Amino acid sequence: MESGMISQLQKAKRYAEEPERVTLETLSLHFQGDNNEYDLALDRDGWVCSCPGFGMHGLCPHIMSLERLLRPMLKRQPMPYGPHQNVVSDVDKANRYYAEQDRMKIRQFRAKFLGSNSEHIVTYEEGRWDCDSFSFTRLGVSSHTIAMERMLGELVKPQNRGEAVEPED
Ligand SMILES: [Zn+2]
Repeated sequence: MESGMISQLQKAKRYAEEPERVTLETLSLHFQGDNNEYDLALDRDGWVCSCPGFGMHGLCPHIMSLERLLRPMLKRQPMPYGPHQNVVSDVDKANRYYAEQDRMKIRQFRAKFLGSNSEHIVTYEEGRWDCDSFSFTRLGVSSHTIAMERMLGELVKPQNRGEAVEPED
């Protein structure tokens, strides 16, 4: 394996334990609820969800589960409960969803990533990763994209890392 790639993998392993390096600026995702499918989005104004609960209360178990899951990467206060929201039931649901991350599929995000020396922008769209770092231009992956892939787990599709990282049998 190329030494540049080895160094990216080593850095990524360390970064993956430090999710506070990441700030999610925008995010959109698909959420499989118990009975229906919903679309969620995050931007600088906060979260929106297409479910009826969000329409009524401005907060729903879908958003609550994601706020918990992505907390260190959000850098914002959790959204407040609605005045007539059934908090007990919604917290229950959010806890269950939190443990069922295969319900959530990220479509797009844009994130700031604080690297060792400078800040980078990592983007993801329909399975396509991008990063403005020199390593990404050269190798097609970077410590930043690999670390975010680990942090986001089942919520994203893995990037194509070439044969260098996935040795054949
Ligand atoms: Zn919702």
